[in-house]
Amino acid sequence: MDKSQGRSAQEAPAKELPNFVTASGHRGLQLEEKLIFEQGVPGRIGVDVPDAPKGAANKLGAFARKGTIGLPDLSEPQVVRHFTRLSQKNYGIDSGLFSLGSCTMKHNPRLNEKMARLPGFADLHPLQPEKTVQGALELIDTLAHWLKTLTGMPAVAMSPAAGAHGELCGMVAIWAAIQAKGEGATRRRVLVPESAHGTNPATAALLGFTVDPIPANERGRVDLAAFEKKLGPDVAAIMLTNPNTCGLFEGDIKKIADLVHAAGGYFYCDGANYNAIAGRVRPADLGVDAMHINLHKTFSTPHGGGGPGSGPVVLSAALAPYAPLPYVVHGAKGFELVETQRAGTSPFGRLKGFHGQMGMFVRALAYMLSHGSDGIRQASTDAVLNANYILARLKDVMSPAFAGGPCMHEALFDDAFLKDTGVSTLDFAKALIDEGYHPMTMYFPLVVHGAMLIEPTESENKESLDAFIDSLRHLATLAKKGDQADFFHAAPRLTPRRRLDETRAARSPILRWKPAQPPAPTAQAAE
Ligand SMILES: *Cc1c(COP(=O)(O)O)cnc(C)c1O
Repeated sequence: MDKSQGRSAQEAPAKELPNFVTASGHRGLQLEEKLIFEQGVPGRIGVDVPDAPKGAANKLGAFARKGTIGLPDLSEPQVVRHFTRLSQKNYGIDSGLFSLGSCTMKHNPRLNEKMARLPGFADLHPLQPEKTVQGALELIDTLAHWLKTLTGMPAVAMSPAAGAHGELCGMVAIWAAIQAKGEGATRRRVLVPESAHGTNPATAALLGFTVDPIPANERGRVDLAAFEKKLGPDVAAIMLTNPNTCGLFEGDIKKIADLVHAAGGYFYCDGANYNAIAGRVRPADLGVDAMHINLHKTFSTPHGGGGPGSGPVVLSAALAPYAPLPYVVHGAKGFELVETQRAGTSPFGRLKGFHGQMGMFVRALAYMLSHGSDGIRQASTDAVLNANYILARLKDVMSPAFAGGPCMHEALFDDAFLKDTGVSTLDFAKALIDEGYHPMTMYFPLVVHGAMLIEPTESENKESLDAFIDSLRHLATLAKKGDQADFFHAAPRLTPRRRLDETRAARSPILRWKPAQPPAPTAQAAE
């Protein structure tokens, strides 16, 4: 079915659209409005604040404000409407299918949100006495138990605040173990596959290790022969993602673990893609020494826009003694938070002020308990099934990056199907916005030319996958006609703003509003 025909039959003919301008500047229910600072009118007010008592002492001393605060004067309805409209310009997992790969934009069951908002969890203060937070400590301990059970690992550090923070935790533990063996001066090299997430080499480099890339083979996996050649007495660790960022299972993972161990190094596994294998494979059985689990990717939690994450790190017996403080133990009088070094352990220090991301712990445990072990297994299975359905239904019109086998939780395409059409991966993704979808991850992983990485997750049903696939098939077929470059270059057409200079917006964002100054000509780029 050609959906675009059906749609344009009910609407104004598309050719009239470019010249059609409304008096208000609004486009239907998409409203154009000024910045909130520009809407302010001096003296307009939403709440009455009592005047400070005459002669009240200045308790702030030198910190007392000298000038006005500079906030706009607005009524309450203005503020409510402004932020409601802004929220409606957003596209999130609650608006529709979010195809971004390598990020796992997953449905967040409302039950988890309800649990996280229970006052007994939400209103805790991290400095409350231990005896008043026994329930919270028990929750952290229970979650730790299930993370260890699912992964088969003997220890877990709960405090890391995100995946990258977890990498830091695991790699510092590895560094501490190497130091303890007296090899700190010699083991300075970390092997990282070319397809790795950027945080892996960044973490190793931050700790002063030399990053040595391992090439991928033609099947998108680690080139085993190249890896073996790189092993030596100066190798501290390999940082490997499994399933990797091409959405493929590293079939040689056990061999890789054995080889790095034989060379005296450690195996750091990036577990951000654990949602593809949870309940099916235990990382301990694969020879992993340290692995972060992105609770916000595998066990729900809304994380669009850089929201809070949580990256607990499971550790092997070799690394467990170096786990950071604080951690929870069962003490004589209930749960205790260990804040100082205990006999037989060598914690490398602290990573974070307190115990970790409590709200994410509550959500993750609610997710685990409501799914049960069979449900977690089913979620991984369905995530993989959905990605393979997309791969299977698109492989004749788009070009799978690694043909000849199934994928795991995400389907990777390259831009070979766009060759000689004048349409780039970016143009294709922009056209997908007009179709009502958040584009897939583009140009990552770097090992694939013009990459398009699609991760549907387990909670999309067949109808929603089919609708998404129909849009992609329509666009791919259109692009391949070869004379549609102009159509794609002009996309998106139906958004509040058209093509922005994204590089410039990221590199030189305009973050401060300055009064009485006409907007710079580049303002649109940074909106
Ligand atoms: C998301 C991700 C990370 C980083 O996790 P953050 O929580 O964003 O710091 C690391 N590796 C891979 C493979 C990822 O997908």
